[in-house]
Amino acid sequence: MSDTLPPLRDVLAKHGLRADKKLGQHFLLDLNLTGRIARVAGDLTKGTTIEIGPGPGGLTRSLLAAGATVVAVERDERCLPIMAEIGEAYKGKFSVVMGDALKVDLREIAPSPRRIVANLPYNVGTDLLLNWLNYATAFESMTLMFQLEVGDRIAAPPGSKTYGRLSVLAQWLCNVEPQFRIGPQAFTPPPQVESIVIKLIPLPAPRFEADQKTLESVTAAAFGQRRKMLRQSLKTLAIDAGFADGTALCEIVGIDPQERAENLSVEQFCALAREIAR
Ligand code: SAM
Repeated sequence: MSDTLPPLRDVLAKHGLRADKKLGQHFLLDLNLTGRIARVAGDLTKGTTIEIGPGPGGLTRSLLAAGATVVAVERDERCLPIMAEIGEAYKGKFSVVMGDALKVDLREIAPSPRRIVANLPYNVGTDLLLNWLNYATAFESMTLMFQLEVGDRIAAPPGSKTYGRLSVLAQWLCNVEPQFRIGPQAFTPPPQVESIVIKLIPLPAPRFEADQKTLESVTAAAFGQRRKMLRQSLKTLAIDAGFADGTALCEIVGIDPQERAENLSVEQFCALAREIAR
């Protein structure tokens, strides 16, 4: 479905909007591509769709054309006149909150059920996701574009080089569904790297029992020294929790103390977190 608004290149020219690197701006000007992202998000006709960083509004327009009610968060005030034109074309279906998405609690700006769909600013993509994972059940889904390297880390299975803290946390709380990659040339200006759209569907409850803060400490310690054996990387945490050493902690949960962080499953990290919090 298309709208009566002008082509995105004309919108950029009319408003003199040039991408600002500091704001991680890489615009998608192909409405077929933004339409594809909107389709991945599923049925948008019910609930609220939150978009971070509408910029020139390509993805926004695809979301609205798919029947979404969109609440956007944008930091760049230069985009305001563009947002106003979109608001005119989709009366009552589009609103914008100006500000830094890192400081906004999305539960306060959009009623439930809510989902996020966004081509994220690359410089803060990981931090935004980590924030939202603190209240993951508030979202029906999160359909997000990341630079490929970050996307790989989110979806990586145990045993892979990119498996790390972000993989454990995201997969503990969500079903992680990588969708499709987009090459640099699709963006204006092109970034250095490929991008990937990932759909995260938060689980009603975490996959395994564990306290989130403790799990974060365990993964931070284990992956902070990822080439070391767990008996070494977990030593301080183990001693602080009353164990003789890292080996004692690993053995009580049936994990080989000589193993390395990248080979532990999400379930095993949760077992360690439960034992430490006990
Ligand atoms: N959605 C547009 C598209 O697909 O063409 C623009 C995507 S661009 C990668 C990222 C957008 O996020 C820009 O519009 C930028 O101004 C905005 N942005 C950057 N940092 C932000 C922040 N901390 N909070 C809210 N928006 C931000």
